[in-house]
Amino acid sequence: MKLLLVEDDNSLAAGLVTALAHAGYEIDHVTRAMEARQVVQARAYDVGVLDLGLPDGDGIELLRALRGRQVGFPILILTARDGLDDRVRGLDAGADDYLVKPFAVRELEARLRAMTRRHDSRLSPWRRLGALRVDLAGAGITIADVPVDLTARELAVLTSLMRVPGRIVNKETLFALVFPEEAEASDNALEVQVSRLRRKLEGAGVRIRALRGLGYRIEEADDGERS
Ligand code: CA
Repeated sequence: MKLLLVEDDNSLAAGLVTALAHAGYEIDHVTRAMEARQVVQARAYDVGVLDLGLPDGDGIELLRALRGRQVGFPILILTARDGLDDRVRGLDAGADDYLVKPFAVRELEARLRAMTRRHDSRLSPWRRLGALRVDLAGAGITIADVPVDLTARELAVLTSLMRVPGRIVNKETLFALVFPEEAEASDNALEVQVSRLRRKLEGAGVRIRALRGLGYRIEEADDGERS
């Protein structure tokens, strides 16, 4: 997890860097708004912690500028000000959460975890079944956390089945997704894709069941069964 810390109080920052590194974050620490603008151009971050009172500007202005430039990673604001207005302005400017100084590092860590969980579930629509994980946005699949290569057609079949695990996806729907250019694709062509997919899913603890005349369904395999 790459974390950007924007904080001009060096002693506070040093403590945070130590604690957050211990918690597994890889941290870039900058002290000025200008530096923050530069580093987000150069690197991708998973999460940010932003002080509001910076020597070269207001953290809220920085936040607004970052969000305006489509910087989308979750950001928590730290503020010594406990005014309601600042918190509201921060959230309105695109902060995901805030903490008022002084705070316990454990609380910061818990808030960072909660923020990234919320963010991940919004951004990457992964679905799990057995040992299989599928990104419904089409980015790929893993079995027991190992990436597995699928062809575009196999991936189209699998993502449409994984949108509704345990339910039948009819053949017409699958045809349209898998062979969008070919009005005349045969049952056989679809079966070929499904049987290739089954081979690649061996060991995933799932099976793709054919329901004659209806379509296909993906479900968790019973013990000892194969896909
Ligand atoms: Ca400050």
